[in-house]
This record gives sequence, structure tokens and C-alpha cells, in this order.
Amino acid sequence: HFANVEMTPGDPILGLTEAFVADTRPGKVNLGVGIYYDEQGRIPLMRAVREVEQALALEAKPRGYLPIDGLPAYNQATQKLVFGADSPLLAAGRVATSQTIGGSGALRIGADLLKKVLPQAKVAISSPSWENHRVVFNAAGFEVVEYAYYDPTTHGLNFEGMLADLGKLESGTVVLLHACCHNPTGVDLTTQQWEQVVALVKERKLFPFIDMAYQGFDKGIDADATAVRLLAASGIESFVVANSYSKSFSLYGERVGALSVVAATRDEVLRVQSLVKRTIRSNYSSPATHGGALVAGVLNSAELRTMWEQELTEMRERIHAMRAGMVEKLAVHGAPQFDFIQRQAGMFSYSGLSKAQVDRLREEFAIYAIGTGRICVAALNTNNLDTVVAAVAAVSR
Ligand code: PMP
Repeated sequence: HFANVEMTPGDPILGLTEAFVADTRPGKVNLGVGIYYDEQGRIPLMRAVREVEQALALEAKPRGYLPIDGLPAYNQATQKLVFGADSPLLAAGRVATSQTIGGSGALRIGADLLKKVLPQAKVAISSPSWENHRVVFNAAGFEVVEYAYYDPTTHGLNFEGMLADLGKLESGTVVLLHACCHNPTGVDLTTQQWEQVVALVKERKLFPFIDMAYQGFDKGIDADATAVRLLAASGIESFVVANSYSKSFSLYGERVGALSVVAATRDEVLRVQSLVKRTIRSNYSSPATHGGALVAGVLNSAELRTMWEQELTEMRERIHAMRAGMVEKLAVHGAPQFDFIQRQAGMFSYSGLSKAQVDRLREEFAIYAIGTGRICVAALNTNNLDTVVAAVAAVSR
């Protein structure tokens, strides 16, 4: 039965990591990853998470199944984080949140849900977007189109193009928007630009699907959720939000995310949520216990939540410092043209380096980046910054 199965191309980013691991040169640096590393180059295990984990180990609770839509304490805490504790939508009972298998699981459950509700719709994603967006929405049966986003000449946002493309979409089109820390470019909208996009989405009757995988990684928990908060206040009746704790809790492998559905009324949201549950049931039945218990344990304790927010702040400030350091040192090396790196946000930067320059970085300097020029600034630290800067300056001459 499998004799005619052809090899499916692998994930290019994972392939890069394999090559990095096999590289024996000392001082090698992997900027191809999508992970936050600390100053010592390690994936942090956050202090607050460790506290909950130790308490859970002592409790040694049995591992029954969670409800189909996950741990209630997790979902309630998630809603407050995503929509704000004083959100009128939450008070009106117009949001239903389901714990999912990472942000990816939320995207897929959201996509499957929308395919049932809007079977004829297309899905519009930014150009470029996270590679998996296209893959997930195609897998759910959607045709995926792109709207203008990145402007290579400014290394910033092509806002005119974005508005023009969104304005041309048919009503009912699902528009996938990155809440903050855009992957792969690092280019975000200002609050004013979000206001314009939300107004356009409302006027054109598009269906907003927010992907928020990096809440707290640029400006702060509430500021990074500006897009969600503006949509919530806009009078738009329904939208969905997929959020992920992989980065903000440094819990990549625990697969913690959530899908929040906003509907017009309390009654409508109950009906939609029954469809969400059916969708989850037909995919994987129910989510896993451990990661959700960690996040809920932190968010539902005032003391641990403060501890977590402090550490998250340290992480985002470290990213800002690495961006500033890179720009400053590149200027010293005679490469001031990289100043845009400081205007980009989150873990990633579209560096503007060409495929040939990225190849040279790897071959001559053991510095790994993605062919598109995407670099992970959260993989920089004070020990590797000088090496990286010298190499980037060398290939830019
Ligand atoms: N959306 C975006 C934009 C991402 O960058 C990621 C993680 N790389 C995800 C969603 C998925 O996150 P998770 O690892 O929680 O599935």
C-alpha cells in the first residue's frame, strides 16, 4: 500500500537545525530557530513554572481526562490575559475559550470550525507569513491568498498595500492577522494602523482570525494585545483568537495554547462552542493535562503571576537590548544600514540579508540563518553578539 508514497519535503527550518548540530566548528551560532534563549544560550525554565511544577509533583494527582475543551481554570485565566480582565465581551459572556495543543492546535481547530461555518470563504494571510499558516488552512480545505505586508525597501510595513489588498477581499473572507511580533518579519502595526485595519475589516465584513503567539514579547501583556482589544471594542460581532504560551511561558514542548471564539450573544457562543467541542473531539478528543496545569497554576496565583510577569519583562528587555546592541555594533563596523532591526519587534527580524549572504554566513562563519534572511534575535547573547555582528558586516561589504 505504501509502495508509491513519495518523500514529502521536510521542514527547511528543522533541516537547518540538523546541519547546525552536525557542525563541529567552535563558536557556531544558530539564528535559524524560533525559540527564546537566555543570556547563557539556554531555553529558560521560568521560576514561576518551576514552583508550580514542584507543587504538582508533591501532590502526585491521578491523571484523568480533561474536558474536551480543557481545564476550566486555564481557559478562564487565558480569556483574561487575551481580552483583558475588565473586558465587556467577557462580562457579556460572549467569549468561549478552549485549551488546545499549542497555538498550532488552536489554528487548526479554528480553521476546521470556520470551514464548517464559512465553507466558501477564502483565507487571506500576510505576505510573507509563518509558513504553517498556509499549510494549516490548506489542510482544513481553504484556498489561501496573500495580502501585501512587508516592504523590502524600508524593511518595514507596506501599509498602503495592505489596506488596498484587504479592501479588495470579498466579504466573508477570513483574514489572518498577527497580533504582535510578526513571524517571520518582526514588522508590526502601530495602534493607529490597527485602528484603520479594524475599521476596514468591519466595513468590508471580513472575518478576523487573530494569531497571538508572542503576547508579552514586545511591549507588554496588554499593549501586545492591542489588535484583540480594538476588535473587541469595534462592534464587530464575531472573530476568533488563537494564542500560544510556548514562548511567553517557555513551555514549547508542553503544547499549551487556546482558541477563543467571540460571538454576537451568549446563546450564540454556546452553540458555536458545541461545534468547537465536536471539532476537538474528532481531532484529538481532549488536550493534555500537564502544561495546562502549569499555566493555570501560575496565572491563578497572584504571587506567581507577578513572578512570571517579571521574568517575561526580563526576556523582552533582553531582546530589546540585543536589537540595540546589534544595530550599534554594526554601525561601528561600517554597516549603519541595519538600523531598522531596532524598529522591528519580537523574536525575529527580516534582516534583508540575501540567500547568498546567508550561505556565506553559514559556510565561512558557522552562523546559521534562514534563506529568507530571517534571524532570531532571541538567540543572540553578549557572548555571541560580536561574532555575529562581525560576520554580518563582512558579508554585507
Ligand atoms: N503562530 C505563530 C506566528 C508562530 O510563530 C507559532 C510558533 N512558531 C505558532 C503560531 C504556534 O505556536 P505553538 O508552538 O504553540 O504551536
